[in-house]
Order: sequence, then structure tokens, then C-alpha cells
Amino acid sequence: MRADAAATYVVGAGSSGAVIASRATENPDREVVLLEAGPDYPDPARLPPDLRDGTRNAWTSHDWGFRYRQRRGAPRLPMPRGRVVGGSSAVNTCIALRGQPSDYDEWADRGLPEWSWDRCLPAFKRLEDDLDVANEWHGQGGPLPIRRHRPEELTPWQSAFLGACEELGFARCEDTNDPTTTGYGAHAMNLRRGERVSAAQAYLTPEVRARDNLTVRAETLVRRVIVKNRAVEGIEVDTRGRVEVLPARRVVLCAGAVATPGILLRSGIGPRREVARLGVALVADVPAVGRRMLDHFGAMIAFVPRRGACSVHAPLIQTCLRYRSHGATTDNDVMVQPGSFLQLPRGEVPCFTLMVCVGKTRGSSTLRFPSADPRAKPEVDGRVFAHPDDRAKAVEGLQIAGRCARSRAMRGLTHLGWPGRATMSSRAALGDWVQRFGGTAYHLCGTAPMGADGDPDAALDGRGRVRGVSGLWVADASAFPTIPSANTNLPTIMLGERFGAWFRAGAND
Ligand SMILES: Cc1cc2nc3c(=O)[nH]c(=O)nc-3n(C[C@H](O)[C@H](O)[C@H](O)COP(=O)(O)OP(=O)(O)OC[C@H]3O[C@@H](n4cnc5c(N)ncnc54)[C@H](O)[C@@H]3O)c2cc1C
Repeated sequence: MRADAAATYVVGAGSSGAVIASRATENPDREVVLLEAGPDYPDPARLPPDLRDGTRNAWTSHDWGFRYRQRRGAPRLPMPRGRVVGGSSAVNTCIALRGQPSDYDEWADRGLPEWSWDRCLPAFKRLEDDLDVANEWHGQGGPLPIRRHRPEELTPWQSAFLGACEELGFARCEDTNDPTTTGYGAHAMNLRRGERVSAAQAYLTPEVRARDNLTVRAETLVRRVIVKNRAVEGIEVDTRGRVEVLPARRVVLCAGAVATPGILLRSGIGPRREVARLGVALVADVPAVGRRMLDHFGAMIAFVPRRGACSVHAPLIQTCLRYRSHGATTDNDVMVQPGSFLQLPRGEVPCFTLMVCVGKTRGSSTLRFPSADPRAKPEVDGRVFAHPDDRAKAVEGLQIAGRCARSRAMRGLTHLGWPGRATMSSRAALGDWVQRFGGTAYHLCGTAPMGADGDPDAALDGRGRVRGVSGLWVADASAFPTIPSANTNLPTIMLGERFGAWFRAGAND
């Protein structure tokens, strides 16, 4: 492996890092070293079965083992993050949503004109090979295949859910990535014949890996970035227990919304007091690093299926309902999704679920690193549904879910299991219940946000440059200034596409 100071070191091979490495090295004059803590499976034929299986999450085999509390004092629950080339895209549910144009126009309104919807749309089109829809909103021939389950592929529960939404009078939606649509329909998913197509599989193909100017170095944990006189000078890594410093002048952090702020803090970049608490010498006082963590919150009701109606071998998720919640100013800020069974980290339970996911959350979680040890796990206070607006949206969503379950289409398949009828019929009781039992939807982001010059809430400028340090960028979901209303994988890959194009052209120095 070359240790070449002229190379760009990309840290983390997930939804953005894999994309940046692939796109930047399309230019033979750009050399990239992609560093990843987890293992690599360059031969698609040797991919472990759980990473291949796109019908459910892969929760444990390639996981960082992070945990969070829903609220202070609550028990600690798993907070999965992929630790493998492909990152969380290699373990996720494969739902491929972009969010709304207003999500990106909101970024532009914060002084980041580069990130308006009109300027992000070409990258959304470039990243995909939409196998179903060819129109002004979609791209064909891109790295990531996207498809929707056909009616005959749906499980009885998923198909009954669509019937229920129709009964309730919602609009039918043929394409959840057409920004003019709302309502119910099949999810867009990055699957090929039921198999997950991660960012690694889509972007780090054997042809891309064969490039002379790309090195993928797996099982290499980045401990910190070494900065001297406010410029990047090196990167300290631990490869299977061997610690060394690689000379580096350009480092792009793509380690995800939990690890990226950790690396920054260990490198002396962050709020002065936090850096001091960790016993690290201050390099740059950047108050917005790790100050808050954005997330989508979800609440799930469970149903007892009629005998024989539920199979844990079915695809977990195939369909959804998106709508504008009461009082919201933008479309599709809440989603309801049927689960064909209940997936828990320890196994699968044969019961049906309806999950409400609040997209435009107003609340946020907090992240705290106990020490500067690169292997120390952060303490996460989820503050799930602590904000009254988020709670109100969840309650409204659960009431809609309850109405779905009582519809002609669904009621023959099941009866309510949890919570009981008393909770379901009281808004106040449901409000308490979601705060107690709601959880993360695994869409962590916004821990090192981009923002306009002078914005005290920003850690980066609009091109991902870390404030006060030259040669250092953040280009993963940490950089989101606000949370997009939909699942975060596609928005992160879009970010990777844009950063990759800038690094390829040398336009981000
Ligand atoms: C179980 C689960 C289900 C999800 N389902 C969906 C879904 O269906 N649809 C959707 O849109 N989104 C989903 N998400 C969220 C989505 O996958 C993430 O938002 C997205 O992958 C984040 O991309 P990222 O590049 O920021 O981070 P990641 O993809 O997590 O990549 C970070 C990479 O950096 C590596 N890394 C971290 N620290 C270091 C270090 N110190 N040194 C070297 N390498 C390091 C990690 O191992 C990882 O490979 C899900 C997430 C999870 C965990």
C-alpha cells in the first residue's frame, strides 16, 4: 500500500465514502486511498449471506455495537451502524427515497445555494438505474438499480395495507421518488432479485477496484487526523493492532454521523470544552461539531396475525404510505410502513407491524464521547419524541395506522396486539406511549453540519471544508444541515456523487 501525501484519503467506505472514491478516481490523475475499519468483500460471490439478503436488515454480523437510550434513564438499546466496506448501506433495509425538493431548498435557504433541489436532482438521477420509471425525474444506467415490488410479489399483509389506504381515501402513488406525488404504493428499493445492492457493490465494482489510482485498505481504523499549523499533515491509523501515521495532506471524513464527529474531536477539532474534556490539544474551536444528532423517530404497533398469515421468510418491507401531517408546511413529512414480521436484533417474530416514521423531526439526540480512546463507544441520549410536535405527528400517524388495521382490507388478517385498545383510543395515552416505546429509525445525521460563512450552527462550509483547518473535509450524513424528510441512504449517496465529482475535477480545494 502506498503512503502518498499527494493522495486524497477517504475515511469510511459507506454510502458516501465508496461513492467519492469511485467517482474521484474516474480521473486518472486523482489518487484515492479509501480507509475502512471493517472488512472488505471484493469478490461479490463471497459476500456473507446476511449482507446479500435485501429482504431484511443485517443487524449484528458487521456492526459497531453502538447503543442509545430512548430517553435519560431508559435501558440501552442497539443503534446499528454498518462496519464493512459499504457501511450502513451494506446492512440496511434498502428503501431508496430522496426526500422532498423542500428538504434541499431548505439547505439552500440557509445560505447554501449549491444544495438547492435543482442542483441536487442531477446527482439523484446520476446515481440510479431506475428499472421501472423513465421520465424527467429519473436516471437510467447509473450504478444503483432501483425497483418497486410488483403487486404479485407483495405479501398478503403488504397488499392489504395498500387496500386499506385506498379505503381511507389516500391517493395512489406509483413512484415515491416523483416529487409531485404523495399517498400509498410500493417502495422504491435498491434491490436486485431480492439482494441488497450496497454503495460498495454499486460503486466499487471489480472494474473500479482495478484502477491504479485507487487503493482500498480495509480493517484499518482511523484514530485521528494530525493537523499542524491548521493544515492536515497526517492520519493515524490502526491496522489490525499496528498503529502508524500515514503522511497525508487531504483527508475526507466519511465515517458516518457517529464516527466522524468522534474523529474530529480526537483530532482536536470541536467545541473547546469538549476537546479539553477529552484531554486533547485544541486545533480548531468548532462549536457545532457533535453538538446535536438529527434522526427520524419511529413508533410501531404490533398485530397478532391470523394463523398461517405471517411468514418470517417474507420481505420485511415492501410498501408505504406518505402524507402531509396536520399543520405541516411540506408534503410527505410522515410515513407509515407495514412490516411483514417483526425483526429484532436477536431474531424474527411472526407478527405483523405498522410503523410510523416521523420525517421532518424537530427534536434531536445528543452524542457524547467518554474519552479520546478511538475504540470508546459514544453515549447517545436519543430524546425520542421529546419534542411535542414530533410526538403529535407520531400520535396522528398511529391513529391512521389503527384505522388501516380496522379497514375491510386488513381486519381479516389480524387483530391488535400491542398496545391495547385503551391506549390506541386515547391521544394522551398514545402520546405517553410513543415517548416510552418509540425509537430511532437509524437515520442519524447532522453531527457536523454544513452552513454559510458566519453561521454559528455550522462546522463546515458548503463544500464540506472543516472550519479553520485546510485539507480536511466532511462529506457524509454528518454534513446534512437539516434532516431530509425521508430515509437517508439515497441523500447520502447523492452527497457522495457531488463531492466525488468535485474531487474528480479538482474543484474542491
Ligand atoms: C439497520 C439500518 C437500516 C437502515 N435502513 C435504511 C433504508 O432502508 N433506507 C435508507 O435510506 N437508509 C437506511 N438506513 C440509513 C442509511 O443506511 C445511512 O443513513 C447511510 O448509510 C449513512 O451513510 P454514511 O456514509 O454517512 O455512513 P455509513 O454508510 O455508516 O459509512 C461509514 C463508514 O465508515 C466506517 N468507519 C467508521 N469509523 C471509522 C474509522 N474510525 N476508521 C475507518 N472507518 C470508519 C464504517 O465502518 C462505515 O463503513 C439504515 C441504517 C441502518 C443502520
